[in-house]
Amino acid sequence: MEIKQSRKIPPFTGTKILCVGRNYKPHVEELGNSIPKEPLWFSKPLSSIIGSGEKIILPEGFGRIDYEGEMALVISKKARNLSPNEALDFLEGVTVALDITARELQKQDGQWTRAKGFDTFCPLGPFVVPFEKSWLEAELTTELNGKTVQKDSLSSLIFSVPTLLAHITRVMTLEPGDVILTGTPAGIGPLKHGDVLKVKLSASSEIILENFVISEKQSPVA
Ligand code: ZN
Repeated sequence: MEIKQSRKIPPFTGTKILCVGRNYKPHVEELGNSIPKEPLWFSKPLSSIIGSGEKIILPEGFGRIDYEGEMALVISKKARNLSPNEALDFLEGVTVALDITARELQKQDGQWTRAKGFDTFCPLGPFVVPFEKSWLEAELTTELNGKTVQKDSLSSLIFSVPTLLAHITRVMTLEPGDVILTGTPAGIGPLKHGDVLKVKLSASSEIILENFVISEKQSPVA
């Protein structure tokens, strides 16, 4: 499929990465959580970003590390107190991300900064594709070693993209280049050394993020 007017990412040009948790019902249920009454969101540090083709490094001694394939929104202009009706006008486009998560730390800590914040825990890209409404019904698929493990449509989000943007900008200003991960479908699972992850977002065109998994022991940068 053809990709038009897209730009490469990274480099990351924004000021923050925000992530929405528990935004697909089957995923909320698979972890035994309850459906949130309002959007539940958090941030990942910019130091966690890597690009497509780069290695996710599994830290040793922190328990199970999971993949979460997600669709990501990229903001085009400064946004504050948006109404749901105007929110889509503030999108540059969409891309793909992985919200890598140390699942046991997430439960243990009660808040998620450490569990979601390790270096390499936010693979992102490889392109920002200009926003069109068809992306709101795109199909999101995660493949682990060539096998489909997550598959859902963006139309199943509990909180829609306009609702999320209105909710977030009631709290903080979004800047051009800021990225929002919209949540993961059911089918999350653990990673091990040697795994290959592929996350695909398909609508009028297709975006594919691919990353390799290595354990910290094997890493030249550890
Ligand atoms: Zn997530």
